[in-house]
Amino acid sequence: METVAPLTEIIEAVTEAGGSAFRHCYTCGKCDVVCPWNRVADFSIRRIIRQASLGLLEIELDDIWRCTTCGTCVAACPRGVEQVEVGVAVRRIAATYGVYSGAAETLSAVTASLVGDGNPLGEARENRTAWADGLSVKPYAEGMEILYFVGCYYSYDPRNMKVAAATAGILDRAGVDFGILGDRENCCGESIRKTGHEGAFKKLARENIKAFIDNGVRRILVSSPHCYHTFKNEYSEFMMNLEVVHITQYLQELIEQGRLAPAGRVERKVAYHDPCYLGRHNGCFDPPREVLKMLPGLELVELPGSRQNSLCCGGGGGRIWMHTDKEERFGNLRLDQALAVGAEVLVTSCPYCISNFEESRLSLLVDETLPDEDALQIMDLTEVVLESLNGSTDSP
Ligand code: SF4
Ligand code: SF4
Repeated sequence: METVAPLTEIIEAVTEAGGSAFRHCYTCGKCDVVCPWNRVADFSIRRIIRQASLGLLEIELDDIWRCTTCGTCVAACPRGVEQVEVGVAVRRIAATYGVYSGAAETLSAVTASLVGDGNPLGEARENRTAWADGLSVKPYAEGMEILYFVGCYYSYDPRNMKVAAATAGILDRAGVDFGILGDRENCCGESIRKTGHEGAFKKLARENIKAFIDNGVRRILVSSPHCYHTFKNEYSEFMMNLEVVHITQYLQELIEQGRLAPAGRVERKVAYHDPCYLGRHNGCFDPPREVLKMLPGLELVELPGSRQNSLCCGGGGGRIWMHTDKEERFGNLRLDQALAVGAEVLVTSCPYCISNFEESRLSLLVDETLPDEDALQIMDLTEVVLESLNGSTDSP
C-alpha cells in the first residue's frame, strides 16, 4: 500500500485544522479505552494520531473513515489533543485526492446529491415537503414566530418523516405560528463537513443562510442535533448568529409556558438515549428528561453510559452513509443495554439514532433476542409527547 499524500502535507493539514496539539500525544491510549469502536473491532484513534504526527498515515486505509466524531475520546485526553479535528483533517486530504476506501466509497454519490439536490439521499428537491402532504403546514413568511428547519432525514426517510409529522402536529396543538422553507431548504451540511468535504459544506451553509436572510428569519427550530450543532457553532463562521432551538428544548418551553398540556397517561418504562451532538457536544441533557418526567404515568430509567458518557449510535461523522457490518453496530449494543434495564421504549431525539436503532431492532428480531414486534419500541421524544397529548381529555 502506498502513502499517497506527501508527509509534509499530512502534518501541515492536520496542524492547520487542529492546531499543533496533536503533536503532544504521548500515546497513553486513554482515547482508545473509551472509544466505542473498541467494543466491536480493532480500531485505534491513538494509532491514527501517532501516524499523522509522523506524517506516515496512509490515507487509503479504511480506518480513517471509522470515527463517528462522537467526541468521547476528546474529554479523555490529558494532552488536549483534538482527535475529531485531526481525523477530519486527514479526511480532507483523502477527499481532495478522491481516495475513498471500503465503506467510504458511497461518499462520491452522497456529495453529488448534496451539491445537486441539497440532500444526501439521492432524492429530488421538489419532494422535500412530501412528509407534510395532508398536513396544514405553511411556507415560512416574515413575521412568523419560528422557522421549522426540518432537515434531510425527517424530510425523506420514511421512518423519520413520521417524526416531522408528529412535530408539526404538536406545534399546531400549541398554537405556534410556524412555517417551513420547503424546497428552499438545503441540508445543514454538518455531516458532510466531518467527511472532509469542506467545499460542499460551505456551499450548503451559504445557501441556507441566504434563505434565512431573504425570508427574514429570526428564530429557528430544528429536530436534528446535527442541524443544531452546525447552526449554533459553525454557521457563525459566516456571521450567522440567529437563535436556534432544539425540539427537546422547545417542548420544555411550550409545556412550561402552558401552551401544551400533555395529560394522557403513558404507562411505559422509557430509557432515554442522549444523541452525541445534542448531549456531549452541546450539553443538552436535561430538557428531554424534563419533558419525559412531565408525561403522566411514564417511568424514566437511565441507561448505563448516559448523559456525558452516552454510547454513540454509530451514525455521526458521515458513518450514517457508510455500511457497518452487523457485528460492528453500536446500535446493537445500545439496544442490549436498554433491554437490560427493562425498558419497553427507547426514546431519543436524533434522526441518525432513530435510523440506526430501528435497523438494530430488526437485527435483534431476526436473531430472536427480541421475542416480538412490541418488545422494545424506538421512539422520538415528539412521538411520546404526541401520544400523551392524544390521550389528554382536555386542552390547554
Ligand atoms: S488520549 Fe491523547 S495523549 Fe493519550 S493517546 Fe489519545 S490522543 Fe494521545
Ligand atoms: S470521536 Fe468517538 S468514534 Fe471517534 S475516535 Fe473518538 S471515541 Fe472513537
